[in-house]
Formats: sequence, structure tokens, C-alpha cells
Amino acid sequence: TVAVVLFTSDLRVHDHPPLRAALAVADEVVPLFVRDSGVHAVGFDAPNRNAFLADCLADLDASLRRRGGRLVVRTGPVVREVAAVAAECGAAEVHMAAGVTGYAQRREERLHDRLGERGVALRVHDSVITVLAPGSVTPAGSDHYAVFTPYFRRWSGERLRETCPAPGAVRVPGAVRGEPLPSRDALSGVSAGIPAGGEKAGRESFSRWARAGLSGYEERHDDLAGDATSRLSPYLHFGALSPVEAVRRARGHGGSGAEAFVRQLCWRDFHHQVLAARPEASVRDYRTRHDRWRSEEEASEDIAAWREGRTGYPVVDAGMRQLRHEGWMHNRARLLVASFLTKTLYVDWRIGARHFLALLVDGDVANNQLNWQWVAGTGTDTRPHRVLNPVVQGKRFDPQGAYARRWVPELHDMEDRFVHEPWRLPKERRARLDYPEPLIDLADGLARFKHARGRD
Ligand code: FAD
Repeated sequence: TVAVVLFTSDLRVHDHPPLRAALAVADEVVPLFVRDSGVHAVGFDAPNRNAFLADCLADLDASLRRRGGRLVVRTGPVVREVAAVAAECGAAEVHMAAGVTGYAQRREERLHDRLGERGVALRVHDSVITVLAPGSVTPAGSDHYAVFTPYFRRWSGERLRETCPAPGAVRVPGAVRGEPLPSRDALSGVSAGIPAGGEKAGRESFSRWARAGLSGYEERHDDLAGDATSRLSPYLHFGALSPVEAVRRARGHGGSGAEAFVRQLCWRDFHHQVLAARPEASVRDYRTRHDRWRSEEEASEDIAAWREGRTGYPVVDAGMRQLRHEGWMHNRARLLVASFLTKTLYVDWRIGARHFLALLVDGDVANNQLNWQWVAGTGTDTRPHRVLNPVVQGKRFDPQGAYARRWVPELHDMEDRFVHEPWRLPKERRARLDYPEPLIDLADGLARFKHARGRD
């Protein structure tokens, strides 16, 4: 018998329940990745993620080849391609991981129908992309948790599934047609600082992190210049690292750093379970606040300054330039650049979320859209009116200004006391500095936001 394993956001061989289940029932397995024209059509693919994806696919193919198999890559509408592959190899079953986005949920339904017509069973596996399956823990009277802390309490008490080892051998039927793997070198518009993708790199990064970073995570995770977070987010986004394995290994390590890290992984599950229950929250306000955000047309110059990192607020500009250069930004910087765009400039969160998705190598519908909504106060933040002040935040999380100087070289020679407030320099020095004046007075931005939210 033959089974197909459709890989999506789970590009690994370790701890892969669909692959394990397929190998348990079938003599031969087709590991399949579809370069889905539907994902392309909704504009979700972006050069930085495509570069990382190319590495992930190459690495997955290499892992399968070491086991006697290979990765079959096809391009086209996903349902059509999966059905065609199943027919070509005479598969009785298709295995895949459960997805959370509206797109993934529809894909599952359509696959179920199309394969069902041909007598092929679709087997969907939970707890592959997230630690717990969305909807597996719920509060009384709702299909999802809308507040993080009670979710975290409940999540922490749940039993995790056992992880499964990588398979020993994978036999692939010869008849199935595949395409050459996509190559990173053929892509244009990729940021210079994108890390190497793939499961091997992800597992090595995790091991390095467990050895050198995890213990200090609780104290250092907000230190912008220290850059002391795991940087595992792209591996988790593409499933090159299993989230269940990450939690198990961190818990095995123990200590307050590991606990704080596991809590962040729970945030990931939290946003995924919100999106699974409310897929429309990827584009619509999760909570209606009657905002009349400024649109792209109304705020085009402010938006351009924000995107290009020339708002005149050093820590905001540093974050935006880091994003462009690395396809990644420190979480503290994500929080404050998002707060600056939505609450200080009063620009629609969707405009910011779209820019992030165009560049982030870890760009993820659940984590990105729901974090943006959290910051904009239209999401699950229990204090939706809080506004982060970039000067206060800069002094607190980048006290020596090293992060600001690293990404905004114009401030290279600036003394610490001016680095977050260059407008306070003596007049002559200010005039010589090639760095913009603040785009907006923070007090004016705050007043506009308070007035707008006052209408709620
Ligand atoms: P660590 O601090 O080492 O955390 C470990 C892991 O926990 C991360 O890799 C991530 O998977 C998860 N995690 C941490 N914080 C969060 C969080 N707030 N929400 C959900 N998961 C979290 N994360 C993405 O993976 N993709 C996105 O598209 C994304 N967009 C964001 C947009 C905004 C406006 C904000 C405020 C946050 C966003 N985040 C996103 C969450 C967070 O900033 C990143 O996950 C984190 O910075 C990644 O770096 P790290 O791997 O070093 O994180």
C-alpha cells in the first residue's frame, strides 16, 4: 500500500506524527510539498520567506534521501496536485498536519471532499504545528480563550503528547513525478541577513540556545542590544522545529529562564487558537473599537517614514531598519514600532501588519495579525488603551543606546544621554546631524488617540 504525506508548515522529519502514521500503515510513502498557487495568489509568499523555505525544502529532501527516500515537489493549486499525486501512486490515504488559518481550514475541507470522491482517506493530525490542538482546551461557554493568563494556566497543566523519533527508512514509489527543488539563489529582493533555514539548522540553533541562552532568558529577553532571545521563530513558523519537542526539551532543562521561554511558546499557541476559532481576525478587528484609522492615502508620508525608519525616534527607526536588513525584529521593538504606527500615528494596524508580512522571515498569519491587533487594542490585550512611549521605552530597554546606534549609524557618535532624544542636542550640533526631526509630537499623537478611543 501507498500513502501520501502532505508537508505544509511542518518541514521536518523529527517528531512528525503524519509521517510516522503513514509509515505505520503503508509500505511506500510519498513525501509531498506543493508550491501552492493559492498561497501565491493571496500574496502571502514573500522573498525572505521563500529563501528560508528553499533551505527548508532542500534540507528535508536531504534528510529523506539519507533514509532512502526523497521529497516530491509540485507546483499548482494544492487540491489538484494532491489529488493527482494520490492517483499517480495509487495512494489509499493522505496524511497532513491540521492548520489554523481560514485558508488552511478551507484547504482541509476541499481536500477531504476531492479525495473522498476518489475513495482516498484524508487523515489530519493535531499537535504538529502547535503544542496543543486549537480548541482542545476551552473556557466555559466559549470555543476559545480570549485572555492569555487563564489559557496559560490551563495549557501548562495539560499532558503533552510523546514526541516521535525520525523514521529509519522511507521508501518512495518510483513512478511519482516531481519538480526540481526551488533554489534560494534564483530569488531576488531577499534581505541580506536571512539565517539559513532547514531542520538541521533549526535543531542546531535550539541546542546552542539550550546551552548558552535559555538560562538567562528571563532577565535578558527584553534587552534590545543584548539580542538574547532564541531567534527560533522562523524555524517554528516553517515547522523545521517541533513546538512539542521545544517545550519538552526546555522543561527538561528547567529553571526560570526555561519557564519564561515556555510561556512565550504558549503565546504562540494562544494566538493560533484564537485564529482557528476566528479566522476572520486575520483581516477584521477581533474586538470592535469604532476606530477611524488613518488610511494609506491620508497618512502616506507618515507611513513611508515609518517603513523606511526615518521617524526621528531612534528606537523606532532602529527596529524598522533591522526588519528590512534581517527580515526579523526583536519582540520589544516589534511592540513599540507597532504601538507607534497605530496609537501615535493612528494608522490602521492592517497597513503595519502587511508591511511586516512582506519582510518577516517568521511572518505568520496567527502571530503577526493577532500581535498587531493586540498592540492596536483591537485584539486580546486586557489593557487596550495603553500607549508605549518610544523615548521611555528606548531609555529602559536600550539604556546605553547600543541598539539605536547599531541600526541608525547617523547616531554613532552620540552620547548616551542624547541617543534617544537627538532633538535635545545643542542647536549647532543638531543642525549638523543628518537625522530627521521627530515626525510627530508624542503628546499630540497621544491626545488624538485618547480622543478617538474616547468615543468607544
Ligand atoms: P523568543 O523570545 O526566543 O520566543 C520563543 C518563541 O516563542 C518564538 O520563536 C515564537 O515562536 C514564540 N513567541 C514569542 N513571543 C511571541 C508572541 N508575542 N506571540 C506569539 N508567539 C511568540 N512572531 C512570529 O513568529 N511571527 C510573526 O509574524 C510575528 N509578528 C509579530 C508582530 C508584532 C506586532 C509583534 C508585537 C510580535 C510579533 N511576533 C511574531 C511575536 C514575537 O515578536 C516573535 O515571535 C519573536 O520576536 C521571535 O523571536 P525569537 O524567536 O527570538 O523569540
